[in-house]
Amino acid sequence: MVTLSVEDLSVKYQSQGKIVHAVDHVSFSFDKTESLGIAGESGCGKSTLGLAVMKTLQENASVSGKIIFDGTQILAVSDSEFTKEIRWKQISMIFQGAMNSLDPVFTIKKQFEEILKKHNFQEDHIKTIEHAISTVGLPHSVLDKYPHEISGGMKQRVIIAMSLILKPMMVIADEPTTALDVLVQAQIMILLKKLKKEGLSIVLISHDLGIISEIAEKVGIMYAGQIVEFGDMKEIYKNPKHPYTIALLDSIPKIQESKSITPLKGNPPSLVNPPGGCRFYDRCPKAMEKCKKDPPKIKTATGFVMCWLHE
Ligand code: SF4
Repeated sequence: MVTLSVEDLSVKYQSQGKIVHAVDHVSFSFDKTESLGIAGESGCGKSTLGLAVMKTLQENASVSGKIIFDGTQILAVSDSEFTKEIRWKQISMIFQGAMNSLDPVFTIKKQFEEILKKHNFQEDHIKTIEHAISTVGLPHSVLDKYPHEISGGMKQRVIIAMSLILKPMMVIADEPTTALDVLVQAQIMILLKKLKKEGLSIVLISHDLGIISEIAEKVGIMYAGQIVEFGDMKEIYKNPKHPYTIALLDSIPKIQESKSITPLKGNPPSLVNPPGGCRFYDRCPKAMEKCKKDPPKIKTATGFVMCWLHE
């Protein structure tokens, strides 16, 4: 059964009299037994996509299309119903930089208790909190500490435990390892893999395809508000089709190879007035005349690619 199916999703922000097309006609789906990675550079719309699924977009955002989670079209569910029944209980999110949002004047335990109180959680609070903190590999003694008394890696584990406390089916993790040193990054990835093994479906949003490849079976490559390639992670890693995916993979340093990294020239187009035709046109080493027309969505063995080269 499909866990998450996104159909023709668009998100626009109204800002200073302009409309920013942050997510533009995006479609994909993945199964509850899989994990999904969304990769792309800053500003490509990947965090907006996560926020749209969580229905936590800012007030200046408008959304169209469908987001079907476990059979429910969540854009058709009222905000109060979504808050009561779905957000945190079925889908939760580890927000980018969330470890810095822990309240400095309350202990970790108090902050867990607040979440449970807010959701009218009926079961034994202490047992539930201790179970959550053990799940992320932290000792119960952490619960009596204030945020400034624990390390960045421990804070990130606390945030992950908070996202899991109401036992969701799926967690969206937005750059969960950014700003952590490499050793702590590795520990967080080991933790996410363990949670996945225990049955949690993970959507990992990252600029780093290397990190995504460690955990995800499916991947969507986002560029300038669109998913330009989608399919099985292994397939795309071995045989990337879209020139942007190729450039992203080329930007991962490889210990065995001495060749230097080739940076992509130029910048993504403005999302206020995105150009017609392929949005990668100005930076693409393989651009052709016909790329000035909208690229076709070509079926691949496990997904699709939006590029005239594969027509
Ligand atoms: Fe490059 Fe053309 Fe493919 Fe766009 S459609 S990625 S410009 S080859």
